Amino acid sequence: MKIGAPREIFEGEARVAMTPDSALQLQKLGHHCVIETGAGMKAGFSDEAYAAAGVEVLPSAEALFEAADIVVKVRGPERSEAERLRRGQTLISFFWPAQNAELLELCKEKGATVVAMDMVPRISRAQKMDALSSMANIAGYRAVIEAGNNFGRFFTGQVTAAGKVPPAKVLVVGAGVAGLAAIGTATSLGAITYAFDVRPEVAEQIESMGAEFVFLEFEEAQDGAATGGYAAPSSPEFREKQLAKFRELAPEMDIVITTALIPGRPAPKLWTEDMVSAMKRGSVIVDLASERGGNCDLTVPDQKIVTPNGVTVVGYTDFPSRMAAQASTLYSTNIRHMLTDLTPKKDGVIHHNMEDDVIRGATVTHDGAITFPPPPPKVA
Ligand code: NAD
Repeated sequence: MKIGAPREIFEGEARVAMTPDSALQLQKLGHHCVIETGAGMKAGFSDEAYAAAGVEVLPSAEALFEAADIVVKVRGPERSEAERLRRGQTLISFFWPAQNAELLELCKEKGATVVAMDMVPRISRAQKMDALSSMANIAGYRAVIEAGNNFGRFFTGQVTAAGKVPPAKVLVVGAGVAGLAAIGTATSLGAITYAFDVRPEVAEQIESMGAEFVFLEFEEAQDGAATGGYAAPSSPEFREKQLAKFRELAPEMDIVITTALIPGRPAPKLWTEDMVSAMKRGSVIVDLASERGGNCDLTVPDQKIVTPNGVTVVGYTDFPSRMAAQASTLYSTNIRHMLTDLTPKKDGVIHHNMEDDVIRGATVTHDGAITFPPPPPKVA
């Protein structure tokens, strides 16, 4: 099969779904690889590097969509891209089918198969294809780097001839994949790190990454296991307790990184305007929930603002793209693993096995039908 990566057309997107290295691996599965000229440029992969890896470089998106049996992308397709799909062709990319019903319908009408990387079941066997986690890991790391870039002091405490420097205090709100990566990064830079999550079962993970779990005395503990590892909305009483705790912590914290999300809902508002006002001049908030409305009241999506009391609030929504080389390397590996499972005999022939939990879970259109939502996976 011909596997092709076009240039991403979403504004500001620098990642690419195929790297020269992943193309070499895909060729070992019996596939041919093609890219649109310049597809890897923003991530640091030149057309020459692809050509040296045996990849055919095509002059336009039109030529790429025409040539490829399987189109691999990072961002879900724009309408103009979906219009180019044809019967029998497969698209593998992020897609967010629940939020993109019209696009899903269009792909179905075109007769294309769509494999949504955001729908890969989060079971052990599928970890190698879990692009949500590989990108969240980068976002968590980058959030700390971005915070450091806007923070005028060291993370680590130092005793120097020029004076004693206290360590920075970092609070991470939400300890999923991104939050844990942020904790690990902040701790390794020498900060004193605290973290909070509504799921008490993550306390151990928080502590193993070197942070202190912010404990909330409350009877109504959430059982994450009951909701597939995800959080559910908190009761008003729990929320009040949580906000009271954050109000107590706000004047002490130098950096706050918020990552709290609840599937299918807007991000919960957890860092309120009065908490921002209570923070010290020079403090930084990085809101990783910005794209879903933000955890902080003052977050402006895609922007960095400085409040009148001198607190920087970073609301960027493109953290993985800000580390495009790393993100493309990991994402293209997730894609390559998906294609490995789709090519069981390593003979360049795709076998789209809808009996396979992982393939079934991620496939949102197939054979002229919408196959989303999938049935629950059989194995955990
Ligand atoms: P997410 O991005 O949906 O949410 C981020 C975090 O925010 C979660 O930890 C959630 O509990 C927390 N949160 C929600 N509301 C909050 C609030 N009001 N206050 C504080 N925190 C709040 O989460 P994610 O990173 O996608 O991970 C979700 C779960 O899936 C985790 O348990 C993770 O370990 C699990 N997971 C499993 C696998 C696997 O088995 N292959 C892979 C990845 C993730």
